[in-house]
This record gives sequence, structure tokens and C-alpha cells, in this order.
Amino acid sequence: MGDAMSTCDVLVVGAGPGGGNAALQCARLGLSTVIIEDHPAIGTPVHCGECISEIACENLNLELPEHVISLRVHGIRVIFPDGTEKCLSEEGYVLEKHLFERWIADEAAEAGASIHLNHKLTSMEKVEESGRFAGWLCDGKGDQFPIRAKVIIDASGVAAVCSKIVRLADEKPLNEMGKVVAGMQYEMLEVPTDGYLDFYIWPKYAEKGYLWMIPKCDGRANVGLVTEDRPRAKKALDEFIDITHFKGLEQVAPPWKEKGNPAFGGTIPISGPFDNTHYDGLMLVGDAAGFTSPLFEGGSHLALKSAVYAAETAAAAIADGDLSEQRLSVYSRLWKDEFPPYDKILRGKNALFDLTDDEMSVMAGCFPDEMGDMGVSGKAMVGLRLLIRHPRLYFKRIVPAMLAFGYSRARYYGW
Ligand SMILES: Cc1cc2nc3c(=O)[nH]c(=O)nc-3n(C[C@H](O)[C@H](O)[C@H](O)COP(=O)(O)OP(=O)(O)OC[C@H]3O[C@@H](n4cnc5c(N)ncnc54)[C@H](O)[C@@H]3O)c2cc1C
Repeated sequence: MGDAMSTCDVLVVGAGPGGGNAALQCARLGLSTVIIEDHPAIGTPVHCGECISEIACENLNLELPEHVISLRVHGIRVIFPDGTEKCLSEEGYVLEKHLFERWIADEAAEAGASIHLNHKLTSMEKVEESGRFAGWLCDGKGDQFPIRAKVIIDASGVAAVCSKIVRLADEKPLNEMGKVVAGMQYEMLEVPTDGYLDFYIWPKYAEKGYLWMIPKCDGRANVGLVTEDRPRAKKALDEFIDITHFKGLEQVAPPWKEKGNPAFGGTIPISGPFDNTHYDGLMLVGDAAGFTSPLFEGGSHLALKSAVYAAETAAAAIADGDLSEQRLSVYSRLWKDEFPPYDKILRGKNALFDLTDDEMSVMAGCFPDEMGDMGVSGKAMVGLRLLIRHPRLYFKRIVPAMLAFGYSRARYYGW
């Protein structure tokens, strides 16, 4: 620890979308806010397909500046194993994600937050005053440490650093780490597009995951996959490229990556929200809380929204002078009331991946071309078609699988 101690109302750990927005909202609410980021720059390396829906931006009151938008897109086209294509149309954006994250961080700084790069949280100690919890004393790598904060918002992504550091009364960590899947992609050039995100559900290449072509400006596109078969991820992506129209297209390093392998990616938590998303003086947001959408694994909308709830809860708790776990339970209530039912969507995803490739394609053939606005009668029609054409399939939990697509729309935080 250094000699001088920094103090603040809120320490935000991690400057991804969750952390950036948590800091922005806290600063706007008048809290003295410090945000620390392990990396030397915000937003890089990019570990994201970079898409976000218009509904997400409206829900978050985000007015995206032009320089963070790479391309406006019209929704998702799902491509099943036999090539059947169905759309989930809804407007959105492909971002230059690192510029987006930098923009949010700049907004936070403008609102009064202080940002410290190359700062890594490694330890936290409870502070008590008159027998009551009064905040955290934090240490780590970086000259701002030690930092004393009334509230910590953990936005450290899949690292989930506070869940590992904080020990409960029985010495167990605050949360056990769940499962993660690997995601990786290439930036490719001269990729044809009609403005849809192409999501290929092709289990042969992406086990319990999918492959994507996410178009960007100037003919660029992210071509990648997320798969539970982590060791085979790169080989499977290369094989997929080899048998599709992506074969032969140039792979380049993205603009933010100066050297090394052009592939980029990361890991995504897939076990659902953690058991404890709040504690004394602590709230977890975004990937650090396990918030990702189960079927297509989008997490930016969830991270940005949970950050809003955490900031509001922090402001109210600090104003009340009560930083206890009990007081911060408001946060967990807020996200539980808002976010879609993870377990239900997961059941749908599992039902989908219980199908063979042929069964999946048959099911897709019964869907309308536009899956986004099926409504009750549309779903009933799909059920009826299945019952008439493929009664055996009807009883293979097709309905939950179908609902998983519905829940992957923007209004359910799918993207
Ligand atoms: C390949 C891939 C494609 C994806 N595509 C999409 C997509 O198209 N759309 C979408 O919505 N989501 C997508 N996601 C998921 C999305 O990227 C995440 O859900 C989102 O970034 C979560 O934001 P976050 O702020 O919670 O965490 P992160 O963005 O992971 O940010 C966490 C930050 O915390 C920092 N940090 C970690 N530990 C510490 C520490 N001890 N001290 C200080 N700082 C620390 C990290 O350096 C990092 O900058 C994708 C993920 C992957 C891997």
C-alpha cells in the first residue's frame, strides 16, 4: 500500500460497458466516484461481437455518437443446419465497441468520475465504525491504492474479482464460479451483407453455441463463434469459414490491434446470475454477476442496465447512511423484476440442442419467415404445423425451444 489513501463514495471495478455506465450514473447522481481498469486502455482488447439493439439504446437513454457506430443493422437472421433462414427483425447497431466503451468512460469523467487505468483490485477489507459496516478498504496494483469506498460496484466481467475475494462467514467465496464458453472471431474484408446479423445454429462447428457474421462498415465483418468445445474453437471456426462463402476472404487485424494473431475473443459466463449479486457495500453488475442472455450470449444491454440499478441503489443507500447487505438487497430485487427468466430460456436452449440437425431444420421449416412478432396465434400455428407434419417432434419440447428464440429479442435483453 502507498502512504496516502484515496477515498470515495463508490469504487467501480472495471471499465467495460457495465463499469463505465455504473460510474457515469453514480457521478450524475452526485456520488464521488472512482473507476479503475486493469488494462492500460479502455475497451481493448475487444471481446465482443459488438452489436447492440435500438431498443437497448432507448431503454438506457443512450444517444450514440456517430463515431462509435460502425453500421446500422436490421436484426438477426438465424440460419439452421440445412440452410433454412428465419429472421428476428429489429433495428440495431454494430459498434466500434472499444470506441463505445471509451465514449461512456469519457461521459463518466465529464460527469465527475475519476478514471485510473493500469489499476487492478486484488484485496478488500471490511471497515466498521461503531460496530456497523462502513465501507471497504481496497488494495491492488496502481498508485491510487489504498482506496477506501463506501460502496463497490464490481463490473470486472468474467473475472468476477469481488466474488473471489470476499469470503462469507463460512469462509466460502461470495460466489462459486460458474461455467464459461469460449468466443472468438476474425475481422474479414469484403463480406457481402444486406444489413442483418447472420447467426448460424450449426452444432457440428459450434457445440451448444452458434457462429456469426456481424457486418461492419466498409465491407468489414466479424466472423466468429461461441462454443462449449473450447479446445476446438479456432479449428472449428476455420473449418466453418472453409465451407462457406467466407472462404478466401481476407482476414485482417482489427484497427485497435497492432500485432499478433488477428483472432480475438474471450469467455462468456453461461451459468446464469450468481446467487449473491449484493453484499455489505457491494453490488455485482454485468458479466461479473453472470448476466448474459442464454441463447445468443449477449451481455452488453444487461451490463448497462444492471449498472443503472446499482448506481441508483448506491445513491439511496449512501444517502440513508445504511450500506448493509439488507439495504442493498433492493438492487437484486430490481434486476430480478426486470430481467427475463434465465432458467426458462436455458431450458429452451437445452431443448433446442437436444434436437438433431435434421430435427432442428424440420422445426425451422414450421416457423414463419419472421420469428420476431409471432404472438400467441403465430405460436399456436407453429405448434399445429408441427403436430400435423411431425407429431413425433411436437413432443420433443419444441415449444420451449421456440420460446428461447422469442426471448432472444432485444426487449428481453437478447442484444
Ligand atoms: C466473442 C464474444 C462476442 C460477444 N458478442 C456480444 C455482442 O455482440 N453483443 C453483446 O451484447 N454482448 C456480446 N458479448 C458479451 C459482452 O461482451 C459482455 O457481456 C459485456 O462486455 C459485459 O460487460 P461488462 O462491463 O460486464 O464486462 P467486461 O466488458 O468484460 O469489462 C470488465 C472490465 O473489468 C476489467 N477488470 C477485470 N478484473 C479487474 C480487476 N481486478 N481490477 C480492475 N479491472 C478489472 C477488465 O479488464 C475489463 O475491462 C460477447 C462476448 C464475447 C466473448
